Order: sequence, then C-alpha cells, then structure tokens
Amino acid sequence: MALNTTWQGVLEQLKTWARVNSPWAIHFNSGSCNGCDIEILATLTPRYDVERFGLKLQGSPRHADVLICTGPVTRQARDRLIRIYEQMPEPKFVIAVGSCALSGGAFQGCYNILGGIDQVIPVDVYVPGCPPRPEAIIDGVVKLLEQLKAGYQPAAQRSRTLRPVPVPAVDLG
Ligand code: SF4
Repeated sequence: MALNTTWQGVLEQLKTWARVNSPWAIHFNSGSCNGCDIEILATLTPRYDVERFGLKLQGSPRHADVLICTGPVTRQARDRLIRIYEQMPEPKFVIAVGSCALSGGAFQGCYNILGGIDQVIPVDVYVPGCPPRPEAIIDGVVKLLEQLKAGYQPAAQRSRTLRPVPVPAVDLG
C-alpha cells in the first residue's frame, strides 16, 4: 500500500512536471472586437516568446490543456464555447483575456451578450485590460503555471457543472 502511494505520488509529480512545462493551448474568440486577439497573437511572436514557458498553440481542443478566451460571450458563440470546452481533456484550465471576457466589458447590456466567460464555463485566471498588453497575458500564464506547480485544482473540478445561462429572448418585431 505504501509502495503504491509512493508510486502514485511520483506519478502525480511527473504529470505535474509535464503539465507545467508544456501547457498546450487553444484560443477562442467568443465575441471579441479582435483587439484582445491581436495582443494574444503578439504574445505568441518571438518578440514576447511565450513558448519559453512551453506554451504552444493547438488547432484542436482535444490536444489542449488551456483554453484562452477573448471577448464577451454572444448568444451565437455560447454553444460553440461549451462544445470546445467539453472536448478538452481533463484537467483543463481557462484563461479569460480582456475586460469583455471578464464581465462583458464594452458590450455589457447588449441584447446579444450573455456576459463574461465565467457565466458559461469555469475560469481559472482573469487577465484584465482593454486590451491587455502581452506582458499582462504572459503574467496570467505564469500565474496559472505557478498555481499548477503548487497543486492547484482546476476551476472545472471545483464546480463540476456548467452554469445554465438563460438565453434572453430577442424581440425582432
Ligand atoms: S477588452 Fe477591449 S480589446 Fe478586448 S474584446 Fe473587449 S473591447 Fe475589444
């Protein structure tokens, strides 16, 4: 039993080491004006070189550990956001980038806006700004990695169920 616990401990340490050193990410725009997305692209360029932390952009949610979200959640994007999130393997982490992703920002109160990302899926790291500079995005990534090193439990496991968001009815007449 003790041996099992030891091996389980070593295995967990190994998994944490791998996770912290190669957080593969997918980027999703759920309604952003593209300002935040341009900053994320800048963060991925050699000038800011976020790959030094092992962060690599992936095309498929099935290969990603981290979902980087920008923009408020629109009525149209809500189901896509949930589908992408659900396709990611556990444990998964979400970074909300920009004021709109945090609260709806400049689009708050619009008929087609449901609010910030955490109105739909659990969020682990919030990066404020309109748009946040690459340094702020890198700071958010580093904070997530530091938390992972310390044995952080993802928000997804803390709140297992996705929050049901009532989709407002639109009166087109
Ligand atoms: S936070 Fe600013 S830059 Fe980012 S999506 Fe909202 S309005 Fe655009």
